[in-house]
Amino acid sequence: MKFQLLTKGVLLLAACVFAASLQAGERLAKADVEAALAAAYAKYKDLQEGANADYIPALAKVDSNIYGIALVTPEGEVYTAGDVKSEVSIQSISKVFTMALVMDEKDPEAIFNNMGVDATGQVFNSIVAVEQYKGAEMNPLVNAGAITATSMVAGNSREDIWNKILSYYAAFAGRELSVNQEVFKSEAATNQRNQAIAKLMYAYGHIKDNPDQATDIYTEQCSVNVNARDLAAMAATLANGGRNPITGKQVMRNENVAEVLAVMATAGLYDDSGKWLFLTGLPAKSGVGGGIIAVSPGRFGIAVISPPLDAAGNSVRAQKAIADISNALGGNPYAVTPAK
Ligand code: GLU
Repeated sequence: MKFQLLTKGVLLLAACVFAASLQAGERLAKADVEAALAAAYAKYKDLQEGANADYIPALAKVDSNIYGIALVTPEGEVYTAGDVKSEVSIQSISKVFTMALVMDEKDPEAIFNNMGVDATGQVFNSIVAVEQYKGAEMNPLVNAGAITATSMVAGNSREDIWNKILSYYAAFAGRELSVNQEVFKSEAATNQRNQAIAKLMYAYGHIKDNPDQATDIYTEQCSVNVNARDLAAMAATLANGGRNPITGKQVMRNENVAEVLAVMATAGLYDDSGKWLFLTGLPAKSGVGGGIIAVSPGRFGIAVISPPLDAAGNSVRAQKAIADISNALGGNPYAVTPAK
């Protein structure tokens, strides 16, 4: 059903993909971007599908009407529509940036060897998936892999590790970020399943030490507050080879960006990751707070926040708005025109 709804919208825009096919490195025209954002904002503003996540009690209380779109180009131009000031917790989108941090500190092979880079075929917080291959053959964007990635961040104390993670995220966003304490407390009080997953990853030797601390830091990283503009800057940093296009700072190692994007393409939208890639071609990541980031390499980073989620856990408005905007701007990296 969901697939049909999305497909319908995307098929209608199929002609635009060809019309608007953009060559890598080609600058987006201001008027095209403004028009694409305004059209997607207006089209889905009154859409009332989906519901806030409620398995973390504090998320159920977030205003379901928050709806903001932001797009940032490699030249550092920022385009917005709707509410780009309201903040929500970053949730699983954080997993992308902790994975990037571990790759920067060690190397991409550390991720590849410790938890893998494959889709599990199971839900994001599956225990069956951990059991199947004793904690291997998964990826850093499902909870078992993500908590393990958090456990791999080096540091002499919890505080050291936390400060490093938060300042790394902040460099991607281009401003200081803070934790939503209500969400952190709410999830910390109800995350027994994640604690169990971390213990299993410890039992199988993927988490080397202190699984409870890894879960606690992971829960805190998921509670970092962001607005749509922050998320778009984070996505645009990935779209721009790891350099934040607004601050000009090289935030992550350039040579690791392709691997980060590959894992996002494989596992960014929970059980609908394949459908999403089929429809848009964009590496992306969603979070149960209602945000989605997507990356058109070399072209733009985009983010939408809208808390109501579909059955797979992805923001309904965010998926539709990003698919429309990317198709209108020729963002699909797989869509090329033949050489003349
Ligand atoms: N903190 C959430 C959890 O572990 C993140 C879920 C998500 O955004 O996918 O359940």
